[in-house]
Amino acid sequence: MPIKKENIKEWSEQRIDQSQIDKYVKNNKDFIDDDYITSMLDLRKEPDPGRVKDIIAKSLNIETLTLDETVCLINVKDLNLLKQMEDAALKVKKKVYDNRIVTFAPLYLGNFCVNDCLYCGFKRSNRDAKRSVLTLGEIRREAEVLAGEIGHKRLIVVYGEHPKNSIGYMVDSIKAIYSVRVKTENGFGSIRRVNVNASPLSIEDLKRLHDTGIGTYQVFQETYHHKRYEELHPKDTIKGNYRWRLYSMHRAQEAGIDDIGLGALFGLYDWKFEVLALLAHSRELEDRFGIGPHTISFPRLEPAANTPFTMESGYKVSDEDFKKLITVIRLAVPYTGMIITARETPQMRREALSLGITQTDASTKIGIGAYAGKALHQEGDKQQFLLGDTRSLDDVIREFASMGYISSFCTAGYRCGRTGKCIMDLLRSGKEGKFCKLNAVLTFREWLDDFASEQTKKVSEHVIQKEIDEIKEQMPKMFPEFMKYYEKIKNGERDLYF
Ligand code: SAM
Ligand code: SF4
Repeated sequence: MPIKKENIKEWSEQRIDQSQIDKYVKNNKDFIDDDYITSMLDLRKEPDPGRVKDIIAKSLNIETLTLDETVCLINVKDLNLLKQMEDAALKVKKKVYDNRIVTFAPLYLGNFCVNDCLYCGFKRSNRDAKRSVLTLGEIRREAEVLAGEIGHKRLIVVYGEHPKNSIGYMVDSIKAIYSVRVKTENGFGSIRRVNVNASPLSIEDLKRLHDTGIGTYQVFQETYHHKRYEELHPKDTIKGNYRWRLYSMHRAQEAGIDDIGLGALFGLYDWKFEVLALLAHSRELEDRFGIGPHTISFPRLEPAANTPFTMESGYKVSDEDFKKLITVIRLAVPYTGMIITARETPQMRREALSLGITQTDASTKIGIGAYAGKALHQEGDKQQFLLGDTRSLDDVIREFASMGYISSFCTAGYRCGRTGKCIMDLLRSGKEGKFCKLNAVLTFREWLDDFASEQTKKVSEHVIQKEIDEIKEQMPKMFPEFMKYYEKIKNGERDLYF
């Protein structure tokens, strides 16, 4: 049923609670100082190679870098030094996350939006966009395909900002997803972790989201540069309020959500500025709450229908710069998970993997209702933006396995309370890796037995055997218990974890 314009206006006017911004702002300044960051970028134009090596050593010790250190890395031009940075980025990833890659699928639940971001196909002024929002029945159907046919265990649900996607709808839609259980040949499929990408919420709404049992709560700042942000987000929209968005993760922490994802949309402003600002945001959260971002995302701006801005933004990020920014983020915030999405081509995703990526999506569809095949706007020109990689999860996992990576479907972390500060300490010390290694093998076994093609199984068996051998060697005490679980899974039991 259409919602009246005046009701949308009233709803929009109640979204922002100024007191939930003011409580964090000091002397009318937020923690992103544009002038300071810009001036930092002019410093250290020619970083001393000895200093760069010291900075790399600090990253390898899994310590968050300072802005000054990160500027040095950004300004490295020497190809030898750059290569050393790339090698170190992979080493950091291996130290914290070993050879595991986590896979997920995005699920777009609706494309109504009251905002008018210049770069997004969902913007309200895109009159050609066909709008829809999935019913709970349609959501369950999407989850059945994702969990029962493809084998996903993790989703990121994506919402526009609109009364049709209010907090009540968010909670109900997440519950609907968790309720799905589909019989498979050898066991059953279900979605065990729902991450959320949504507009900034109030502390009260965030508490409700938290009580629903979500994984990561993601909000991308898009651009951290105040003036540029103003140009891209009309003032008369909710999203036009920079600080409401900037402090969304502070509010999440207060609401009990300590698993948070940061991001910037690269291509809206100078990538170097955004990298430093992402670091400043991470450090602010670490300093204030003792917990940094669980993940950082760095989507690149993609073309979108009726959105000419995407072709003329003026800050397009080249492939070379993109790889450099991934390397620098990996080194600057060594404990964080790093997500690359199907916006990127298979070739770029392969290259990014060796720079320290930890998570990626596959079998991705971003049309509303697209997984169950009833997409209202699955055609490329009607989506939010265009995808660079439409390969199936099976194809992507086979490729990972042939490169020696194990795909993990582990969702134990948040279900066992290993989130926030606890997970950060475990990641920094390398202890989380122990649980993850065991759970990666168990969940990969499940997926291989339930969903993999014969070809993928064949390539993956040696990866799984190598992991089992390592577990035997590295964790002899746990090995017998682990093998019991492994055998049970082979016999059709599901969802066992440490
Ligand atoms: N409406 C919520 C918001 O804006 O935070 C969440 C949904 S929005 C669809 C999710 C993300 O899509 C945005 O944060 C933005 O970074 C990204 N996005 C928007 N337009 C894009 C484009 N043309 N290319 C790539 N990513 C885009
Ligand atoms: Fe709406 Fe988010 Fe798109 Fe902006 S980026 S128009 S808020 S869906």
